[in-house]
Amino acid sequence: MPSHLADPDNNLSFTRGIFLGELRDELLHPFPAPDDETRESLGAILDSFRAFAKEKIDSAKQDHDGKFPDDVRAGMAELGLMGLSIPEEYGGFGANAIVANRVFGEIGATDPALAVYFGAHQSIGCKGIVLFGTEDQKQRWLTQCATGERIAAFCLTEGGSGSDAQAMRASAVPSADESHYVLNGQKIWISNAGYAGVYTVFAKVPVVIGGKAKERVTAFIVDAHAPGVSLGKIEEKMGIKASDTRSVSFDNVTVPTEDRLGEVGQGFKIALEVLNSGRLGLAAASTRGAQAILEVALAYAKEREQFGRPIGSFEMIQRKFASLAVDVYASDAAWMVTAGMMDRGGIDFSLETAACKVFASELVNRAANEALQIAGGIGYSKEFPYEQAVRDARINLIFEGTNEIQRALIALSGLQQPGEELKAIGAAFRHPLDSIGAIGSFLKNRVRKQLRKPDFDNVHPSLAAEAAMLEENVHDLALAVERSLFRHGKDIIERQFDQERMANAAIDIFVASATLVRASWAIDRAGSVEKAHEDFDHAKLFVPAAARRARRAVRALDRNQDSRLKGIAERALASGVLTVRVPTDG
Ligand SMILES: Cc1cc2nc3c(=O)[nH]c(=O)nc-3n(C[C@H](O)[C@H](O)[C@H](O)COP(=O)(O)OP(=O)(O)OC[C@H]3O[C@@H](n4cnc5c(N)ncnc54)[C@H](O)[C@@H]3O)c2cc1C
Repeated sequence: MPSHLADPDNNLSFTRGIFLGELRDELLHPFPAPDDETRESLGAILDSFRAFAKEKIDSAKQDHDGKFPDDVRAGMAELGLMGLSIPEEYGGFGANAIVANRVFGEIGATDPALAVYFGAHQSIGCKGIVLFGTEDQKQRWLTQCATGERIAAFCLTEGGSGSDAQAMRASAVPSADESHYVLNGQKIWISNAGYAGVYTVFAKVPVVIGGKAKERVTAFIVDAHAPGVSLGKIEEKMGIKASDTRSVSFDNVTVPTEDRLGEVGQGFKIALEVLNSGRLGLAAASTRGAQAILEVALAYAKEREQFGRPIGSFEMIQRKFASLAVDVYASDAAWMVTAGMMDRGGIDFSLETAACKVFASELVNRAANEALQIAGGIGYSKEFPYEQAVRDARINLIFEGTNEIQRALIALSGLQQPGEELKAIGAAFRHPLDSIGAIGSFLKNRVRKQLRKPDFDNVHPSLAAEAAMLEENVHDLALAVERSLFRHGKDIIERQFDQERMANAAIDIFVASATLVRASWAIDRAGSVEKAHEDFDHAKLFVPAAARRARRAVRALDRNQDSRLKGIAERALASGVLTVRVPTDG
């Protein structure tokens, strides 16, 4: 089984390469189309889930009741879905990332709240044990998670530490005989809290380093029924209402040392690796959720007539369907290519999962809003699924790391290597006589970077013009990144206007690259462009649009009105008044 670890310190990354002016498109290949055997078993899982969903899942009623009927949860377990990506030796199905996320997508298309239940268990709740657990931990916990006997949940967020997870206050103090830890603290917004039998909990362990007292974030597997564990009331949420969300308090809970997950101090790394898998699941579920609500709107647009013809015949409505269809195609390509990286192993996919999460979560929000718009007045009615889709989609911009944090992560991680190179060369220029070699190769590289665009290999010749657009984007981004680093130095950390632009460009370049890989694969498989004309059309529309957005973002790194923008925001924050008052305000 592949390691499913991104391991940013040791593995090559496509998106990090973009920031260096490199198009490492070999990392995106081959497009991870499942082989016949995998397709057959995936088809069987999807069919059995669809049959079950048809009979048992009433998303609107679950939304209204704010919970899943018992037979829905029991049915998910009976189908084996709660063990889908748990290895076979612990009673699970052992699905690879492609299969697991495709199923996740189907659940997301059926009921987003159920996808959260499934994801909080599978993608984040017990994922830490799959990735980092000892054999003994896997035997004891995963076997029960696989059958659904124990539902898992992931406890990271606290009242004072949301995006800034390092600021957590929960503590786990080792006993004198080192047999156990005493866990204290409160986690909030915990999905599946009410159903959970086991939690992955992050807490700080006191340590002494170099004679100084410090604290290190560490992960623990905690029995939800242990004395001292208690739950808050169910949160009344805007959407995904059937998913159970509560606070979980730990009051002097004894956690045996054998249930510490990984080493002391490894907690943050574990959380990040687990969230990589969570973000990909969220992307697959969001993409398929977008498709599902648009297909409801498609049926309506065919049937609803105004001005004596179906509203679907009006081009303003057609434009919505077509542009969102193209984005769904691209988003599917992106999560699939990333799942392929996960399954191959040895590739750092942490920035790609972040890119997939941002792209797909924003897509499902756009899609739900446009579907509602296409439905007109009935879109606003609770009798129809559109308003629920809008409410359910909204959470995806927030959890598993907000989209702002994902953008900062992409930009700052991408800047790491160019920043280090420039720092090293800055030091070399201070001692030029000792560093002639280093300076010489830096200048040579710079000239090469200025002159040579990277190559997007392995793209179908019919899409060569689109590949060239991305080559240009990557070339321009890397040079703009370098100028930005020269201009701001380490202050770039504070320059979020620029980080956002770099991240937006990187996301579009990655998603467009994945789209080219998908469409090229489809054309090759079909044997000609004509036989794969739908794939061709989707790529032809998506890539230039993404390249245009990326070009605009890169250009704005050099030409912008950031100081004016900042001035307006800071004046508003200082005064509490958003904008200039008009005379009629009195
Ligand atoms: C329904 C639901 C289910 C959840 N399930 C779980 C779960 O199962 N387990 C779990 O551990 N957590 C869970 N969460 C918590 C979720 O992950 C956090 O809400 C999220 O990470 C944001 O943290 P916060 O709410 O404290 O917002 P904050 O961190 O306070 O952020 C508020 C705003 O400020 C922005 N912001 C913060 N820092 C920066 C920065 N450096 N730069 C730019 N902008 C910034 C954010 O993007 C956001 O827009 C869930 C939340 C919800 C609502």
